Amino acid sequence: MIREIKKLKSEEFDVVIIGGGIHGVTIAREASLQGLKTALIEKNDFGSSTSANSLKVLHGGLRYLQHANYKRIRQSIRSRKVFQQVAPNLVSNVPFLVPTFGFGVRSKFVMKTAIKLYDIISADRNKNIPNDNFISNGKVLSKNEVVKILPGLQQNNLTGGAVWYESIANDSERLILQFVLDASDNGACIANYLKATGFIIENKSITAVKVKDELNNHEFEIRTKNIIVTAGPWLNEIYNSFVSNNTFNIPLTKAVNIVVNKGLFGNYAVGLEGTEEYKDRDAIIKRGKRLYFFVPLNNKTMIGTTYNKFDDAPDKLTITKSDLIEIIDEVNSIYPSLNLKFQDICFYHTGLLPMAEQKSPDDDIQPGKHSEIYDLEKTDGISGAYLIKSVKFTTAPSIAEDAVQMVLQKSGKKIKKTFVTSYNSNKKKEEIDLPYDVQKHLREIYGRNKYKIVSMINNNKQLAELVSNSPAVTIAEILYCIREEMAISLSDIILRRTGLGNLNIPSINTIIKIAKIMQNELKWDNSKLDYEIEKVKKIYSVLNNSLLETNN
Ligand SMILES: Cc1cc2nc3c(=O)[nH]c(=O)nc-3n(C[C@H](O)[C@H](O)[C@H](O)COP(=O)(O)OP(=O)(O)OC[C@H]3O[C@@H](n4cnc5c(N)ncnc54)[C@H](O)[C@@H]3O)c2cc1C
Repeated sequence: MIREIKKLKSEEFDVVIIGGGIHGVTIAREASLQGLKTALIEKNDFGSSTSANSLKVLHGGLRYLQHANYKRIRQSIRSRKVFQQVAPNLVSNVPFLVPTFGFGVRSKFVMKTAIKLYDIISADRNKNIPNDNFISNGKVLSKNEVVKILPGLQQNNLTGGAVWYESIANDSERLILQFVLDASDNGACIANYLKATGFIIENKSITAVKVKDELNNHEFEIRTKNIIVTAGPWLNEIYNSFVSNNTFNIPLTKAVNIVVNKGLFGNYAVGLEGTEEYKDRDAIIKRGKRLYFFVPLNNKTMIGTTYNKFDDAPDKLTITKSDLIEIIDEVNSIYPSLNLKFQDICFYHTGLLPMAEQKSPDDDIQPGKHSEIYDLEKTDGISGAYLIKSVKFTTAPSIAEDAVQMVLQKSGKKIKKTFVTSYNSNKKKEEIDLPYDVQKHLREIYGRNKYKIVSMINNNKQLAELVSNSPAVTIAEILYCIREEMAISLSDIILRRTGLGNLNIPSINTIIKIAKIMQNELKWDNSKLDYEIEKVKKIYSVLNNSLLETNN
């Protein structure tokens, strides 16, 4: 897969997708599978914005029972299946535990009923997915069992716990990339670091997208019959470029998670009530305390999420030490015996989400609950332009089906069935003579594409040399990501291709080794090399920077 600038300049497309987060890439895959001539452009790297910053839970929809939203539960189950089918190596199942208390709405009886109901609604959840991804039924635990897992929990009124299974994206950045690779295999023309700067509208129809190549400032136009804008928090900005009075404004909330450098509750993800009350007008249970989730991943724990109002432009989003301390303080109030310290934080996630409407000033700040597709023909009389307001990573595949169907219906084209109905694991047997750690890393991160890296090593044994011990990353992998996966900057490799730095701080030695391989391959001069290294160091600068010297 290479940046297809020439084709983007010269050809006309059925649809250009603007924004390569999870929504853009799932739409690109779906549109190309449907036979639409598809282009996908991303102003930065794929999945480098909100989508890289989620808690990585691919919700099965149990939580929507409290909103009695059956449609959304089914949408979540269907979307989760798409993730399991596209990249089974990147999706795993984790038991989620929530303690139960007393006889009211948080009681064991109510939770047990909810879990049973969910198991019935999701009875087909394991149909057509790989066996390794099968999701078990939920269950309830006794008080003693819960105390064993959560010995520091305050036990007044504790009656036990409810357990259900959710999928998580082990590496959400690679999961996003797998959709890009699939779209490219299906013929989509794709480029990262290509920014949409404007649109050409003739006779009230979209005819082209104006773009700027962020690598050389070159500007050109991509001719197209339709656009789908999946720009995440930049939606307001792009929508307002179509309307004259700048009136479109979805308020944004800044969401933050932390990652701590230790497992906390064994293999369980745990939901614990925070200290502050919040209201949810749409739920059956209208009041409660916000749940904080502790999600285990690779011997670390992701904890979140906090939400605060954000009034600035999306490009101004930053993370501060006080954002991180807010979570540490809250966790230590909820579960004092954890005694977490700032130094335990090894990574963080922050992103901007549409905020739910505040019906009165004292309403809590919450993320919006509903994704939406705006058809500008209906709202502003411009045909061929669809803009997406997105609220969840999980439901992106289902939104993708809806958005592409809108384009197909308008163009009078037939809708094909693209949902996989029989799963074929297509296991390719090939001799691999590599250390166990390298094999494990390749299998977990690259799935079916690992053989491409293995064959590079078979052709040149020197490429098996490691640039990092944990994870065991080889030189071959870096070259593969540059040549076949559009990795262009050092941060693309560290954060979004190799799994080296998206849960952990990589060592400065590893960063420099990789930068030098990139310098050689991409012909960087020394000032570019220094710039790329400094840019990566800055990502971790809010954390305990001494870790840069000691890790891996
Ligand atoms: C802290 C946190 C925790 C979360 N946890 C979960 C969770 O556990 N489960 C879940 O399902 N969801 C979760 N979410 C929500 C989920 O991450 C988002 O809803 C989802 O990732 C949004 O995806 P997107 O593709 O719409 O937006 P983005 O990922 O923001 O993608 C938009 C892309 O558009 C690009 N772009 C913008 N303007 C242009 C332009 N002019 N030209 C070209 N490209 C452009 C941007 O660079 C960006 O890459 C969480 C979010 C946060 C912040």
